[in-house]
Amino acid sequence: MKEKPDHSAAPAPETSSDPAGSAAVQAVVSGLDPVEALQVEKLYRAGEVIMLQDEPGDCAYFVQSGRVEIVRQRPDGSEIEVGRRGPGTLIGEMAIVDDGPRSATVRALEDCRLLEISKADFSRAVKNANPIVGLVTKLILMRYRDILQRSENVREFAGVTTMLEQQERYHAEESRVLDAVRMANEFKGAVARQELFLEYQPFIQIDTGRVIGFEALMRWHHPVSGRMRPDLFIPMAEDTGLIVEATRWAFRESCKTLKRLITHTGDSALFISVNFSAQDFDDPGFPDEMLFILHETGIHPSQIHLEITERLLLRQSEQVKQILLQCRQYDMQIAIDDFGTGYSSLSYLHQYPVTTLKIDQSFVRNMTSDEGALGLVKSILSLSENMGLSIIAEGVETQQQVDMLKSLKCQVAQGFFFARPMSEQDAARLLTMQRTHHDRA
Ligand code: C2E
Ligand code: CA
Ligand code: CA
Repeated sequence: MKEKPDHSAAPAPETSSDPAGSAAVQAVVSGLDPVEALQVEKLYRAGEVIMLQDEPGDCAYFVQSGRVEIVRQRPDGSEIEVGRRGPGTLIGEMAIVDDGPRSATVRALEDCRLLEISKADFSRAVKNANPIVGLVTKLILMRYRDILQRSENVREFAGVTTMLEQQERYHAEESRVLDAVRMANEFKGAVARQELFLEYQPFIQIDTGRVIGFEALMRWHHPVSGRMRPDLFIPMAEDTGLIVEATRWAFRESCKTLKRLITHTGDSALFISVNFSAQDFDDPGFPDEMLFILHETGIHPSQIHLEITERLLLRQSEQVKQILLQCRQYDMQIAIDDFGTGYSSLSYLHQYPVTTLKIDQSFVRNMTSDEGALGLVKSILSLSENMGLSIIAEGVETQQQVDMLKSLKCQVAQGFFFARPMSEQDAARLLTMQRTHHDRA
């Protein structure tokens, strides 16, 4: 840690922070990392107030040494201690997430060395999208909620929540974040170490029972924990931005698999559906990169379905729209995954070049017993007909559901009733069986 004599004095207000601009300029001139140069170290003596409840704040502090206590003032002016923090912890983090006043007073219990993290530093770091920043943001938001919840506790159970409980809660929270950081570090090399693999779940033409394509689903073979389900690692990979590399890998791998399946079966109409996350759309060069991969692997763009979520479209981002338009221009198909679970409206469907709606599993599962779910499936089907969109029913598990979908004129389905996600070898076998069956008929 660099010592900065100018800023390491006790917290007299005039030394509380260097004017951000000048420190940054000096840093650039002197060749230092401007973000690092803006980090100000502060010393507080035991008993000194570090921040005051209800006052505005524009920085958080990382406790390097010493311990602090966090207290909240009750309306009658008395105080209640709501926690203590020691080295390696963060205080005052709410201020760099929003513009609200300090939610508590923080006092030094011992002489403390604190590292200031200004709102400006934080925003810049987030913008630079360092993968760890996503996790730190999560930590901050967790703490934010924790603080809010604690302030509820203070109001409702003043005196009941012991300090020990508070500390245990911090430790639990810290270890969750540490687990997430650890998992992110392990995931970082997963593509290079060939720990990721794909399984393929078929799409079935309901009338004929024919396999017309596959969805590629990602799995991670973790070196210690073994096979990991995507819902355990995809959210982490999205939060850290690591998903982008994984998606690129999945896309290339899916194209290669599709090529092999087409060669193996001679069925040139097969398509493959790949799942994309919001972070994949941060790079405007992404459609061209996909086009390059398609060219490299010999797949026609129309044989690619991009699966995206309603949430992505609800962001109303011009960049997302442009990327999707370009993908459509290249003739890729665009499917909305889990359709019906977001806040879909006709207006946003019109704004984007969507080609397919995948009816969410929950509606398919419930439509045979719940009028509401059935009504929703019917309206999605009529919506798709009016808009000229294709429909895929997800999560089909029973014959009854198949029959109902048939009667509703839904043509394509996917689900455990037909097949679970499988290896490429099994997918090839399934297609061969289908062809043999067809040739015999
Ligand atoms: P999803 O895209 O909605 O994928 C469908 C999930 O439902 C898959 O779970 C599939 O195995 C499961 N499923 C299929 N048919 C049935 C059924 O009849 N009944 C039930 N109960 N489940 C069924 P999986 O493979 O565990 O994937 C979970 C989620 O992880 C996916 O949901 C998707 O959101 C995400 N995911 C998977 N692979 C990728 C990927 O390559 N990239 C991204 N960004 N997300 C992925
Ligand atoms: Ca999907
Ligand atoms: Ca889905």
